[in-house]
Amino acid sequence: MRILVVEDDALLGDAIQAGLKQSGYAVDWMRDGVTADQALSTEAYAAVVLDLGLPRLDGLEVLRRLRSRNAPIPVLILTARDTVNDRIKGLDAGADDYLLKPFDMGELAARLRALIRRSSGKAELLLQVGGVQLDHAAHRVIYREQTVDLSPKEFAVLHALMLDAGKVLSRSRIEEQLYAWGEEVESNAVEVHIHHLRRKLFPELIATIRGVGYLIQSDKES
Ligand code: CA
Repeated sequence: MRILVVEDDALLGDAIQAGLKQSGYAVDWMRDGVTADQALSTEAYAAVVLDLGLPRLDGLEVLRRLRSRNAPIPVLILTARDTVNDRIKGLDAGADDYLLKPFDMGELAARLRALIRRSSGKAELLLQVGGVQLDHAAHRVIYREQTVDLSPKEFAVLHALMLDAGKVLSRSRIEEQLYAWGEEVESNAVEVHIHHLRRKLFPELIATIRGVGYLIQSDKES
């Protein structure tokens, strides 16, 4: 999953980026409102962490522009301004949640997970498809009552396919979720991760739709 972090404070931005990477996300970090607005116009993100006080373009304006494009992407705002008014303005402008600085990285990660779950319409904590259980919070996959050892990128590929079970995801769509800007995309990486997932779980779990992409069949439809 790819997350956009918009924060002009270098120390805080760096800490958020590192923390979210550790949770297995691909993270793009933008330090001003204009760059963030451009990134949000062109890239597909699973969620945005948005500071309100930003150079060049205020966070609230970034949010208003995002919502005026009808983008349903979940947004968590960060504010140091401890005024109720700012939070109200943010929520009214289309934010889904907020955190006051300073905050705990664990709480930020947990709130993002909750937002992403809600936006995908899956309220339950565990994803279950084809006998495979994926626990996003614990970063754990269970199959036949055994924990399956997956690399962070394998986990991310499986998570993307399970969240969108029943839909075909193209290779580039999966790559977008795996790599941040500037990170080198290894060729055939997605194929290799899928190959490993089939071997570690079971071959029929992930179907290849030739020329289109990959699919995990939803339990409801099979
Ligand atoms: Ca700021």
